[in-house]
Amino acid sequence: MSSSADCVFCRIVAGEIPATILHRDEHAIAIADLNAQAPTHLLVMPVEHFANVNDFVAVASPEAVAALWRTAARLGREHGDEGFRLVVNTGPHGGQTVDHLHVHVLAGRHMQWPPG
Ligand code: 5GP
Ligand code: ZN
Repeated sequence: MSSSADCVFCRIVAGEIPATILHRDEHAIAIADLNAQAPTHLLVMPVEHFANVNDFVAVASPEAVAALWRTAARLGREHGDEGFRLVVNTGPHGGQTVDHLHVHVLAGRHMQWPPG
């Protein structure tokens, strides 16, 4: 299983940096975002290191892909009675700041559109 020593999310997966963990299985982990942008702001990520969604869909197992999206949708349902938003920022124009794929799960308020 690949991980990256200088990746903050790999270090959270490894237990080297503390985080509030809401879900963990062999493929996916969900944590609370350190800088919440909504009443619920979670990050669902693969346990294994993938830099972004392009690498993930190219290389990850179908089980890992399913686990990521099932976990994200379930947490959205559980925290968003009236709906939720899943976001995957990718690359500089996408606003990605951590190069370990993660799905933002945002809920608990009415989201605006278009995003900034
Ligand atoms: P991105 O900008 O890559 O889409 O999202 C990265 C997210 O990771 C941001 O929302 C940021 O607040 C969150 N984040 C960055 N470092 C940490 C950390 O050490 N712990 C947690 N829980 N969240 C982090
Ligand atoms: Zn990583």
